[in-house]
Amino acid sequence: MRFAVAVPAVIGLAIGGVAVAENAVGASPPSENAVGERVAGQSAAGQIAVGESPAGENAAETPRVIRRSDVVFMYDNPALYEAYGCTVLGWAGHADREHIADAHRKGVRVFASSVGFRTEFAGMIDFSPRFAEARCLNFAGEPFIVPWLWDHKHKGEPAWWFCTNSPLYRSYLRHRLERVVASGADALHIDDYTGTAGAVTWLDACFCPDCMRGFREYLRGRFDAAELRELGVTDLDHFDYGEFLRQQGITPDRYHKERPKLPLAEAFVDFHVKSVTDFVAEFRRAGEGLKGGPLPLAVNSNLNGPMNLAITPHLSYFCCELDHRAASREVPLQPVYAYKLADGLHRSVTSTASGGDWAYINEHRLPGLVRTWAALSYAFGHNLMAPHRMWCYTQQKGTHWYSGPTEEYAWLYRFVRERAELLDEFEAVAPIAVLYDNHSQRQGKGNIQDIVRSLADANVPFAVVVHGDDWLPGYRITKETLERYRLLVVPGDLQPDSELA
Ligand SMILES: [Zn+2]
Repeated sequence: MRFAVAVPAVIGLAIGGVAVAENAVGASPPSENAVGERVAGQSAAGQIAVGESPAGENAAETPRVIRRSDVVFMYDNPALYEAYGCTVLGWAGHADREHIADAHRKGVRVFASSVGFRTEFAGMIDFSPRFAEARCLNFAGEPFIVPWLWDHKHKGEPAWWFCTNSPLYRSYLRHRLERVVASGADALHIDDYTGTAGAVTWLDACFCPDCMRGFREYLRGRFDAAELRELGVTDLDHFDYGEFLRQQGITPDRYHKERPKLPLAEAFVDFHVKSVTDFVAEFRRAGEGLKGGPLPLAVNSNLNGPMNLAITPHLSYFCCELDHRAASREVPLQPVYAYKLADGLHRSVTSTASGGDWAYINEHRLPGLVRTWAALSYAFGHNLMAPHRMWCYTQQKGTHWYSGPTEEYAWLYRFVRERAELLDEFEAVAPIAVLYDNHSQRQGKGNIQDIVRSLADANVPFAVVVHGDDWLPGYRITKETLERYRLLVVPGDLQPDSELA
């Protein structure tokens, strides 16, 4: 086992990351033929491998739900199941029991139905005449819309961003969960699962009464009275964070510009992330309670940054949008980061490209580029969803759709199904590991994206090993982890916690 410290400034140069790592310590180059290794312990054919929610100690050990040879549809279309060999529904909407039973008869093994934490504003408006009370409020006390749904309206109302800390909104989401479970869905997908937490760092949320109440309880649990006094909080029972900042002369404009440096800013983000993570974990448990058995969970998380990873210990697999930089017309390296990080987290990635990517494909008709994305995902052991109907988005056009021609894509997905033995039950062999440290990432340090891109660009087999923290429990690097690799690449600006240091 050797260590190499990679300097990001150098890593940024072409394949500099690899050169620096190897030259620095004289490591042997990785074996060219180390492409894969068959592993035991996969589930029997024809069964969904599901289990208990794995949060906590054994986050790294969760039953595999998605197989490497699965063909995943984002949206449902029974007329195309056979053409593509569809085995998984990733993001289906309102299916009933009969429809799902029919999908099973047609070869679909996992039918996941989706609940949208931000896209279902119309359902919430219909659910309660008091819907306005459940809207997120920014620091100025104003409700706001989901920015990318600017072109959507329901009963004259825009796409309000509802607060996942609101008991009223939670009762709507619970109602949706009941419908999903009653439909006989095999798994639960949540779109925009970060809910309110996803609006904290750029939309100045959320200062609604429910979040203010929740933040009081968070502070009570984290700090004792002396610590609170030190932080300027003298009367916790009547504490209102928005009011607290306004009394210090903070205006909405200043809040927007200076948020990370303001008093209690770190605690406020921590509260929101933990609050939504706990809620989603509870949501899954409630679903399992209703179902009377396991309910695998997938979410739309692009794996980018600690906030988007916090749900991982409660997750069965990712079902998400990844930026493929279509306009570059090149083989994208960004998805490789998500695939390798997901491997380090022991989760599969069923993915689609971004709305912007599909808008570009739709405009320029580039099926060969899309097939490259699909091949890339399967080569890395993950699953790009079949492109028969994809969401497109541009600021000018808003929401529109790309219907990928069956004759351009179905044969590639049929190949995956027909040659499943080339894909299933393999794990990548990697002599080199790259360290992802969540504690460093939360300080804005330890970024490994350039290192990963450089290694991928140089065709060097590598793994990502993950060291978690209180946002990502259950992932710890041990001596045994490191003994599996000949070389560990560590970002030069790492800020590890005391355990990793
Ligand atoms: Zn709120």
